[in-house]
Amino acid sequence: MVAITEDEIRQLASFKGGEAPVTSVYLDVDGGRHVRWQDVVKSADALLKDAQTRFGDDASVAADIQRIQELVHGGLDRSRTRGLAVFSCTAQDFWKVVELPVGVRDQVVVNHSPYVRQLEVVVDEFERFGLLLADKIRARVFVYELGEIVESEEIIEPLPRGDDDDHSYRKDQAENHTTALVHQHLRHAADAAFRVFKDRGFERLIIGAHDEIAHELESLLHPYLKERLEARCNIPVNAGDEEIRSAALQVEADVERRKEAELVSRLRDAVGSHNRGVAGLDDVLRALVERRVETLLVSHGFTHPGWRCPSCDHICRVGRSCPVCETQMNAVDDVVEEAVEEALAQSCDVEICVGNADLDVLGQIGALLRY
Ligand SMILES: [Zn+2]
Repeated sequence: MVAITEDEIRQLASFKGGEAPVTSVYLDVDGGRHVRWQDVVKSADALLKDAQTRFGDDASVAADIQRIQELVHGGLDRSRTRGLAVFSCTAQDFWKVVELPVGVRDQVVVNHSPYVRQLEVVVDEFERFGLLLADKIRARVFVYELGEIVESEEIIEPLPRGDDDDHSYRKDQAENHTTALVHQHLRHAADAAFRVFKDRGFERLIIGAHDEIAHELESLLHPYLKERLEARCNIPVNAGDEEIRSAALQVEADVERRKEAELVSRLRDAVGSHNRGVAGLDDVLRALVERRVETLLVSHGFTHPGWRCPSCDHICRVGRSCPVCETQMNAVDDVVEEAVEEALAQSCDVEICVGNADLDVLGQIGALLRY
């Protein structure tokens, strides 16, 4: 499976159907929740039937719906796929299917461009990260992407052979010898982590090692890895793959929540001091239109109706006449999605914040500004 990247989402978000709308469909295809494929087909059919009733008068949308229906009826290898996203604009010959190893919520949106918010949530939530587990003789390195292992390496040091033991060793000499072997092993572990990093790349590193060796291991890391070290965990090196995966994802989620809290705290200070920060839908949309946004922060699940100008792409909460060019604007179901797409198109960072009460208080949306 090729994982979707932030760049691909930006590219998707920048596609415009022109006269023809784009149909976006998200489907929960998780085999745990929908054991039989027939159940997925059933919920997809209901979803698409509803879309057909609402938007089927448009020939391009009707063709989109039919093609997506055929795709779903054709079945899917679900061994690694839990969510499906499809974007179609038949009139422009545009078709993109994204298989995701994580779940999504069933949803159909017909809009002027692909509805990317659920993809953005997934990519934001499941950043690629490295995990290095070590004890005194064994080390394992993993890289996770969208919650799945995409790379792993393991080292087990050969134990020193007993018949090589020199019995004249004094106890402290033997201890020195052991210490040297452990040091050598930790160096191997650090080297392995760097090899995997060079091969795959990751933004964050999590380390699991006993206190006794953790400090030494960290001191041996390449500087690139030291600066990416985000958290320590207690996952034992001998744990099973699934235990490691779920524990690592929990650590990663905690890191993500902490990062969001830091950004929201920066936002609150910036808004409070009227210095490079705005909060609330109106002010954020204005800052976006003025291209001043550096980082857009949105509470997970926040939606709000609004308006969008078909002539100059101006977006705002209150219509109907465009304040920039006086064209009659189109009502949109969710102007927050328009804001996310606009931010992606402007290469801003977009952070979807999960369960952050401080951002909710600020109006569920805010922006750190360039100036
Ligand atoms: Zn306008």
